[in-house]
Amino acid sequence: MTQVHARPDVAFDSPSDVIRDVQSARWAQKRWQDMGFAKRRKVLDAWRSDLARNADSIARTMSDEMGKPHSDAMFEIVMSLEHLAWAAANAEKVLGRRKVATSALTKNLRATVEYLPYGVVGVIGPWNYPVFTPMGSIAFALAAGNTVVFKPSEWTPRTGQAIIASFQRASGEFDVAHCVTGGGDVGEALCRSGVDKIGFTGSTATGRKILATCAENLTPVLCECGGKDALVVDADADVAAAADAAVWGAMSNAGQTCLAVERVYVHADVADEFERLVTAEAGRLRAAADGSTQIGAMTMPRQVDIVRSHVEDALASGGRALVGGLDSIDGQVVSPIVLTDVPEDSPAVVEETFGPTMTIRRVADMDEAVRLVEASEYGLGLTVFSRRNGRAIADRITSGNVAINGFVLHAAVPTLPLGGTKQSGFGRVHGPDGLREFAYSRSCTETLVQLPLPLTSFRRGPKVDQLISTVIEQVHGRAGKVRALLDGNGKP
Ligand code: NAD
Repeated sequence: MTQVHARPDVAFDSPSDVIRDVQSARWAQKRWQDMGFAKRRKVLDAWRSDLARNADSIARTMSDEMGKPHSDAMFEIVMSLEHLAWAAANAEKVLGRRKVATSALTKNLRATVEYLPYGVVGVIGPWNYPVFTPMGSIAFALAAGNTVVFKPSEWTPRTGQAIIASFQRASGEFDVAHCVTGGGDVGEALCRSGVDKIGFTGSTATGRKILATCAENLTPVLCECGGKDALVVDADADVAAAADAAVWGAMSNAGQTCLAVERVYVHADVADEFERLVTAEAGRLRAAADGSTQIGAMTMPRQVDIVRSHVEDALASGGRALVGGLDSIDGQVVSPIVLTDVPEDSPAVVEETFGPTMTIRRVADMDEAVRLVEASEYGLGLTVFSRRNGRAIADRITSGNVAINGFVLHAAVPTLPLGGTKQSGFGRVHGPDGLREFAYSRSCTETLVQLPLPLTSFRRGPKVDQLISTVIEQVHGRAGKVRALLDGNGKP
């Protein structure tokens, strides 16, 4: 039995340390905000360079703490740097003050909108992508002018410390971004500390607890939670590409990916070919704890127990293993397991397994695939393989992210937001939405000319009332008719 990871031996912070760091971040916030977008961009670019120069060492810390192979850790870092670069370069364009149009009734006004930082943002992260996931909140919150207190997972505290140490080294700023270490109690203290927003990434169960705690102070929460993502293969798909994506999507990072492929629905016409390719590809992969293979050990013994129970239940309820089986589990080292004929109400199909496993089910047509995918209580990501109908199939399924004829590529495009629906959470990281997530909109009107017939005054008399009635009748009451005439059919 191979045991590889124990909780790292790092002194954890106490709830009073959290209060101290939040106060320090509060003290620094106005100065960081007043620095403006251009100067913050310089600081964030310097931070990016420092992270890049130290990528190898941060990747080693990540591998050491949570078990992913070094090359996967480097891939995670480059993805994070791409998003950091985008946030720094685009914050002003997305959040800066801009003029917006007025209406017929408000022509005498100049209207502007801008997005201002909340203040201090608490970021609570998971261990599975200990750089990529928290950076989606930290980098975007900082670019928007917030200061940050980050609590990494208790499984990856050194990686969290390394990210913040890099910021402090590159910027010379020691109050703008902090790292506090600890478990759920320290996270809870952060939620109660009076921060102005929490950016949370983790399980749906913890998301619920965080929402309950944050409800006490009406603290807003970004909730990036779990998933049970599906990959759908239509009859006209490039089956080899679909099989390759399914295996990587399910097995990379030892399956410990929120957007991992956990279940596959494949059209019966191509199912034999798909299963043959998946079996060949997944069957040649092995997991190891020493970095010698492309799959590392799983991080938490507790999660291995869930994987084992899902596989046991699937096999006991009529499922068959195409690749591996219970023998694939050796302590925390778990080699790929591919299951088929698993009942749709089994934990292996319904609950997040979070290990290197996948279930495959044959479907008669895409209606059946859509129905089965849509039955999930989660709605994070989705992958569809079809040469002609990928978009049409995807449009019938609820999910925050879709990749057609490729796996998870949306997470690599800096302009695209990332986030979930249903039990997978709400709010978005990355792209313009990710910047706005850490800012509140402030609207402003400036009166350019005082109207002779004021709208918002007790001097408003019958003439203004007449004007309002005319607008109601002529502008809004006739809207359907005018639209029909413009569309050329004359009928509303
Ligand atoms: P987790 O929910 O166990 O822990 C996440 C973080 O919450 C940790 O830092 C933990 O210490 C903290 N925490 C625990 N209890 C808390 C409490 N009561 N109050 C405040 N903080 C508390 O999740 P995990 O095991 O670290 O990560 C795996 C989960 O994260 C999976 O479900 C995965 O799908 C999800 N995830 C989602 C995304 C996404 O973008 N949607 C990305 C990565 C991971």
